[in-house]
Amino acid sequence: MPAQLIDGKAFAARLREQVGEAARAFEEKAGRKAGLAVVLVGEDPASQVYVRSKGKATLAAGMASFEYRLPADTPQDELVALVRALNEDETVDGILVQLPLPRHLDEKAVIAQIAPDKDVDGITPTNAGRLVLGMDTLVSCTPLGCVMILKDMLGDLSGMDAVVVGRSILFGKPMAQLLLAENCTVTMAHSRTRDLPEVLRRADIVVAAVGVPFLIKGDWLKPGAIVLDGGINRLDAEPGEERGRIVGDVAFDEALPHVRAITPVPGGVGATTIAVLLRNAMVAAHRNAGLPAPEGL
Ligand code: NAP
Repeated sequence: MPAQLIDGKAFAARLREQVGEAARAFEEKAGRKAGLAVVLVGEDPASQVYVRSKGKATLAAGMASFEYRLPADTPQDELVALVRALNEDETVDGILVQLPLPRHLDEKAVIAQIAPDKDVDGITPTNAGRLVLGMDTLVSCTPLGCVMILKDMLGDLSGMDAVVVGRSILFGKPMAQLLLAENCTVTMAHSRTRDLPEVLRRADIVVAAVGVPFLIKGDWLKPGAIVLDGGINRLDAEPGEERGRIVGDVAFDEALPHVRAITPVPGGVGATTIAVLLRNAMVAAHRNAGLPAPEGL
């Protein structure tokens, strides 16, 4: 049977529609729009693109968008003061500090200042701890999107062997925790893993969260595996191309004959992240306004 291509764009479109409905209902009940604040420090071109997309998507969902663009040499205490002011601002339900921050800033110390109930990226120590303890919490958007896709496709994930390649704070670690919470048997692989092909060959579910183009080869995958490729890697431009292609961490063409289903890059996992961010902001807004959780989100 040919492999199923998992359509991240369609999944995101459905989720955005649900968020839009929840945003309208929220405005009626709370008497204000739900608000998402994004803080960008510096001129990193990729971050600027992400922040612009997030702002547009927030407005399109019927929420208020607050953008703070600070110069690259912003001192730590100024950034912390802004985060604290946003914590106190009752029109702001979610706060996202775009990473990476310029090197002179202490990223962990800044993140720790975000009020956990406004931490729509799920990366404060409190929310990371809540996730490990199995408590209801805000969870990092990309891994949450991955588990939502898997549950949408498969329903129950209990007992499945899952391998997460990558152990970052924003992606690999929360991904493994979410799969564990779904009763998968989870293995985390990383750059020191001794025999990655062997580890991957027993995986029913593979999540690639690495950032190395085509690292995972087709014949490393178990026949019938479900593969979520979170990698976003830009190749060098070929002659005649203005910019290089975006590819994933999995050798997609090689993987196709082996797998049951796979997310393409682009149009797979990456397409879901902003929709999940809006979903998190909506969940945070309901909590902050003392309203019951929005249905279906
Ligand atoms: P990261 O912080 O650089 O982490 C990369 C992880 O991959 C590390 O844990 C590293 O292991 C591991 N790794 C590196 N080389 C490896 C190898 N040869 N074999 C096995 N593991 C290896 O990256 P990230 O922020 O998690 O992002 C990972 C990828 O996902 C990137 O392409 C990024 O653009 C993408 N991403 C996508 C979204 C989205 O919306 N789809 C969101 C976030 C990130 P060590 O810990 O041992 O160094």
